[in-house]
Amino acid sequence: MVDAPVVLVPFDDLDPRVLHPVAAGVMEVFGLAAEVVGPVESPVEALDGVRGQYRAAAFLPLLKRRFPEARRVVGVTPVDLFEPGLNFVFGLAEKPGRAAVVSVARLVHPDGRRFLARVMKETNHELGHTFGLDHCPEPGCVMRFSNSLAEVDEKGRFFCPRCRQKLEAALQVF
Ligand SMILES: [Zn+2]
Ligand SMILES: [Zn+2]
Repeated sequence: MVDAPVVLVPFDDLDPRVLHPVAAGVMEVFGLAAEVVGPVESPVEALDGVRGQYRAAAFLPLLKRRFPEARRVVGVTPVDLFEPGLNFVFGLAEKPGRAAVVSVARLVHPDGRRFLARVMKETNHELGHTFGLDHCPEPGCVMRFSNSLAEVDEKGRFFCPRCRQKLEAALQVF
C-alpha cells in the first residue's frame, strides 16, 4: 500500500538509496511527499535488440499497472531509453498524466553529487510534465529541454516564476 502522493520506482539494479535524496528533492520543489518502492524489472518487450536501448513509452503503462493507486509514479531506470526519431531520451512523461520515467544511463558522473543533481533535475522535469507543464525557454528553469549533459548541468532543479505559477495552479486541483 502506497500512501505518498508521489511514488519513485527504481528499476533493475538501480540502488534505491539514490532515490531517497531525489524524494527529498520532490518534497523541496513540489511540496509533495515521495515514497521509494520497488524494485521493478525493466520491460523486456521494450528492448530493441539492434539499438541496445529500451523504448521509453513502454515503461509508462507498466508503472501505472503496477502502482494503480499512486497519484504520480516516476520510474528511474539504469537502461538507456529511446523514442522513435530520437537517438536517446533522458526521460518521458505523460503530459498531463500519472506516469513518467527517467533513465540514469547517460547521467553518470564520477562525482556522486553531480550525478544526483542530474537525477533530481530530470525527475523534477518529468514530474513537471505530468502536471501539464511544457518545455520552457528560460535558461535556469528545470522545464528547459535538455538534449545533452551540458544542458542538464546548466539548468537548475527549480521552476522559473512562470512555470512555478502553472505548477501551483495544477497543484491546487491535484
Ligand atoms: Zn521534457
Ligand atoms: Zn520555466
